[in-house]
Amino acid sequence: MAIAEDLEIARYLKDQPKKLFIGGRWVEAASGKTFDSINPATGEILAKVAEGDREDVDRAVKAARASFEAGVWKDLPPSERAKMLWKVGDLIEERVLEFAQLDSLDNGKPINEALLFDAPIAAATFRYYAGWVTKLQGETHQLSFPGRYLSYTLREPVGVVGAIVPWNFPLMMASWKVAPALACGNSMILKPAEETPLSALLLAEIIQEAEIPAGVFNVVPGFGETAGARLAEHPDVDKIAFTGSTEVGKKIVQASTGNLKRVSLELGGKSPNIVFADANLQSAASGAFMGIFVNQGEVCTAGSRLFVEEQVYEQTLEELTKTAADIQLGPGIDFMTQMGPLVSQAQLDRVMGYITVGNEEGARLVTGGTRADGDLANGYFVKPTIFADVKGTMRIAQEEIFGPVLAAIPFASEEELVAKANESMYGLAAGVWTQDVKRAHRVAHALRAGTVWVNCYNVADPANPWGGYKQSGWGRELGPYALELYTELKNVILDIS
Ligand code: ADP
Repeated sequence: MAIAEDLEIARYLKDQPKKLFIGGRWVEAASGKTFDSINPATGEILAKVAEGDREDVDRAVKAARASFEAGVWKDLPPSERAKMLWKVGDLIEERVLEFAQLDSLDNGKPINEALLFDAPIAAATFRYYAGWVTKLQGETHQLSFPGRYLSYTLREPVGVVGAIVPWNFPLMMASWKVAPALACGNSMILKPAEETPLSALLLAEIIQEAEIPAGVFNVVPGFGETAGARLAEHPDVDKIAFTGSTEVGKKIVQASTGNLKRVSLELGGKSPNIVFADANLQSAASGAFMGIFVNQGEVCTAGSRLFVEEQVYEQTLEELTKTAADIQLGPGIDFMTQMGPLVSQAQLDRVMGYITVGNEEGARLVTGGTRADGDLANGYFVKPTIFADVKGTMRIAQEEIFGPVLAAIPFASEEELVAKANESMYGLAAGVWTQDVKRAHRVAHALRAGTVWVNCYNVADPANPWGGYKQSGWGRELGPYALELYTELKNVILDIS
């Protein structure tokens, strides 16, 4: 399927290969190389993109450093910076359809989801942090040290920030890092995932249009092992903000030790979604469905372990299986599609591998478990898959699959549930479905997770903190919490005696 000419994004896609954005200019890779971004619904090439590598990252870091030292951004009046960031939000909103189409074609996700979540949340995130620019404040302290002093703090930008983002919500993940990093006065380099480099480049166009000075924001698409690794180890990068797998997160930490750069990490998850017998079962079943099948299950907070209290276990499974079996699979760009393809052949192989593991481990496959055939055979489609009677020790209950594969596990009591739910190396998020308000809080307190949703799931707002316990990461993005990730705290002490 070629890209339909009447799509709003068609004109943007015609102009290829896409270039890197460094120092306010569109440039080719130093090597002259390009790589292909694939449309996962068809396996066809969607766009050719300049392949950034070590030399390009070095050029981008140089440009970012120069803009930082020159103060063209950090030293602007805060109200000016706020205005420009707000404008970025406005421009995303103006081009919401193009952004949604681009992420849908590049990632595979249903256009409805991109229009409802990805693009609007990205715009909202820029506006949210535009509001913070004028509110970055320090504090004063009461000292008991002999003499008289005025002691106060300043929040200053960290300097040059490298943002490495994944392919599951390309624009939104970028905005969660770009907006707070720029709000705090940093200069930066964004490295989108090699699977989905396109919306980051469109974002650069918008940032240029919003008149954010040259060199402050740079985009270097390229591969993780080359461009990403160089950014993570670069001696002149002061901070890396990373979202991706726990495995790569550990590599980032290792790479950062050369100059002890600041690192924040939003990593994997194996989140428990918990249904008590007293829950509104219809809401719980649709919450469980959405928790694992939205965005093809390629969500770090996916509710991939579904714990259901024994009395309502079969009933909930039945409800869920019916909806899953009826789901409309198709190219994300089609408005009728409810679930799109996985992002890549590699991701397809990974997910199918886990389905084999689940079958071999003896879990009960109740629906799905295969690729889609017919018209969809060339794309990376996997049918929504549910395994029942999963044991907590099975690999499909322990390892992050990052696909539309649910592991359903019955439980008998609240006590048993909490222990089982916490039996994970991850601690990103959790869901609790119950009508008992005391139980809701009790369980929310007992779960070792960065976010607990009660009678809802995947509510992600720029005002809320986002991040995890245990091996789900370091630090919290979003909200005022992200301001700490992108600033250094300076204490100034004056002798006023
Ligand atoms: P996934 O497993 O979901 O593809 P990854 O963690 O591999 O997620 O990728 C997330 C981001 O990290 C991507 O932008 C990717 O290019 C980048 N990346 C992968 N490997 C490395 C690495 N060794 N160093 C830095 N970045 C990397």
